[in-house]
Amino acid sequence: MSTAIKVENLYRRFGSLTAVDGVSFEVEQGKVVGFVGANGAGKTTTMRILATLDYPSAGKASIMGTNVVNYPGRVRSALGWMPDSFGTYDHMTVAEYLDFFGRALGFRGQDRYNRVREVMEFTDLDKLAERLINKLSKGMGQRLCLGRALIHDPAVLILDEPAAGLDPKARVELKHLIRILADEGKTILISSHILSELGEMCDTLLFINSGRIVHHGSAESLMDAGEASTSYRIHLASEPGKLSDWAAMSPHCEFIEATKRGGRIKIDSTDSGVIAGVLKRMVTEGLEVTEFHREERKLEDAFIDLLGKLEADEAEEAAASMEASAAVAGPAAEHAKANESEQ
Ligand code: ATP
Repeated sequence: MSTAIKVENLYRRFGSLTAVDGVSFEVEQGKVVGFVGANGAGKTTTMRILATLDYPSAGKASIMGTNVVNYPGRVRSALGWMPDSFGTYDHMTVAEYLDFFGRALGFRGQDRYNRVREVMEFTDLDKLAERLINKLSKGMGQRLCLGRALIHDPAVLILDEPAAGLDPKARVELKHLIRILADEGKTILISSHILSELGEMCDTLLFINSGRIVHHGSAESLMDAGEASTSYRIHLASEPGKLSDWAAMSPHCEFIEATKRGGRIKIDSTDSGVIAGVLKRMVTEGLEVTEFHREERKLEDAFIDLLGKLEADEAEEAAASMEASAAVAGPAAEHAKANESEQ
């Protein structure tokens, strides 16, 4: 499969601030990738460079094989961009707005008319065609912005926080539209703060922290990363109190808490053989297990753990380099002292 988005060692500096700090990643054609990071992590800056709205300080980026700096016009025809906030013209209706962008993108006559109708139908705006833009709700406005990004049927979509400020129903509707576009084979890079939603919608997640990519993989791989133990919820058909005594005597198991029908235990391994062995022993040693359910870590927890681990690694590295400089400075200082006393 070929690459739709390619970012190589990208930097964007604003004075002394490095907003994008050596970012590299690739997105294959037809994939949906979630772009995740805290406020100020560098998502919008990276996306704006991809959308040809800003220049990188260093590094390269391309959309469908075309360099975003060298050929912005070509990139724009392959790309639909949905910014986190978009300017509208209050005196225009929905249909006029889309028609205006259709015209700007080079569509003429019947072709433009058809394209605008198709987009309004897809985004469910056809009933609102004559409504003034300043009379649209937030959700309708977001659908209009998505419609604008789709007018020229681009192969790649870059959506910056499309679900921000939407109520749950509007979020579900937008998610549905994005899923349809993905099924049509579009490549989609989408940023959001709502991790659980992205986890469901995306093939992979790209995590950025302080301008650097810290993880690129499936939601599952992030949730499993660095996890040395897993919690399980156990239900027993009878004598739920037996679970704690059993866990106290069993290797790999730690009893966490009792519940009405059994309890929760922690298994100190993620190896499927060890886990299967625990369940087998439970049954052969007389526990009447009716449910053995792995408790999923939330994506948010996994992300926060990942950030914590990175901070700890950085602190360790800083301590090690201080130790190393002290080791170098030590003999030099002693030498200087010796020289002083000789004089
Ligand atoms: P959010 O989730 O809040 O939208 P983000 O991950 O999109 O955050 P960016 O908007 O890319 O973050 O900002 C990254 C950093 O770059 C921030 O510290 C921001 O203040 C800074 N920054 C962005 N644009 C500019 C600019 N034009 N001039 C100076 N600093 C900027």
